[in-house]
Amino acid sequence: AKADNPYAGAKVYVNPEWSAKAAAEPGGSKVANQPTGVWLDRIAAIDGVNGGMGLRDHLDEALKQKGDGELVVQLVIYNLPGRDCSALASNGELGPTEIDKYKTQYIDPIASILADSKYAGLRIVTTVEIDSLPNLVTNVSGRPTQTPQCDVMKANGNYIKGVGYALNKLGSVPNVYNYLDAGHHGWIGWDDNLGPSAELFKQAATAEGSTLDKVHGFIANTANYSALKEDHFSINDSVNGVSVRQSKWVDWNRYVDEQSFAQGFRDKLVSVGFDPGIGMLIDTSRNGWGGTARPTAPGAKTSVDAYVDGGRYDRRIHPGNWCNQAGAGLGERPKAAPAAGIDAYVWMKPPGESDGASKEIPNDEGKGFDRMCDPTYTGNARNGYHMSGALPDAPLAGKWFSAQFQELLKNAYPAL
Ligand code: BGC
Repeated sequence: AKADNPYAGAKVYVNPEWSAKAAAEPGGSKVANQPTGVWLDRIAAIDGVNGGMGLRDHLDEALKQKGDGELVVQLVIYNLPGRDCSALASNGELGPTEIDKYKTQYIDPIASILADSKYAGLRIVTTVEIDSLPNLVTNVSGRPTQTPQCDVMKANGNYIKGVGYALNKLGSVPNVYNYLDAGHHGWIGWDDNLGPSAELFKQAATAEGSTLDKVHGFIANTANYSALKEDHFSINDSVNGVSVRQSKWVDWNRYVDEQSFAQGFRDKLVSVGFDPGIGMLIDTSRNGWGGTARPTAPGAKTSVDAYVDGGRYDRRIHPGNWCNQAGAGLGERPKAAPAAGIDAYVWMKPPGESDGASKEIPNDEGKGFDRMCDPTYTGNARNGYHMSGALPDAPLAGKWFSAQFQELLKNAYPAL
């Protein structure tokens, strides 16, 4: 039988490749033994890219790390057709129509490796398709944030089919725990987005032969920067009779941070039919926001904006900014069962790996140049036409970005 919370009483797999890169940085040994996600971000990653570790290599190493106890391995399933339809930085190798290739050359081989009896003693967490389904709610025709690519993925149904197929195939392996991506509060925390996202997740979780019980839980904030808990203001506060929901930063959102969002969204998901036992993961790899810019007290009650902006830990220019954010720090260290409804804080995005290149870099992975990764960019509808807040001189998404890693160490909260 599956564990209710796979993280409870278990160690979590340390990826030796990430660990070596972290350890090679000045000060990096303080975090190099932390568990991070293993991203299967293209078909070739299953066997290993350029002589690197493939899936079986990781699972064999996981068996060694496991010893006699329990061990969780964290995999990220990330290769949908038409991937990253609202941005360009992590566009993938599969075109919008290549659903059959996704099934037979990506999901099927992964599922058959995971089903090898040799690995039956591992608790395998699969986080399924980051940054995909909510795009079909928020970035389609009828919304100012629309992109043509997301309209295509909504019309052809291949995100829904791909996610349903992945959940069903992977979730049929007895020791696999599927966590479906749930965006983050600064994306689907608004009333217009929250309910429709929950319904869409249900539709995907019942597509292609999948059933709701194939979903063990959801993951919030993957590779994003939203603060875990804003202590200096709450959604219920008001200043001179004006609700914080009316501040420019919160902008009518129902949530001000990831933990309250994850807990609230969990209830919503259960209300639409997901199992009452589902648990949430929160990616805390880069949402620490420590360092000298971290507010130590609430903002002034002169106006609701002064109050929110003066007190918030999240120092981004706008909550829609997502690429290599300047000023960010490592967040809470990975931890099992940290709060009600939360299965674990995890570092799914490996800290130090870029979100996207700050200028065009030719590559054979399908990755594009997204100006949200360019520090000189003045923005688009998805970040309210604000500056991108990105660090300069970033390499392609997924490549090691030493300067970012150094800043994450420096601004870690809790401090290292
Ligand atoms: C990239 C992937 C990478 C992942 C983890 C994504 O943004 O597109 O290639 O594996 O981040 O760093």
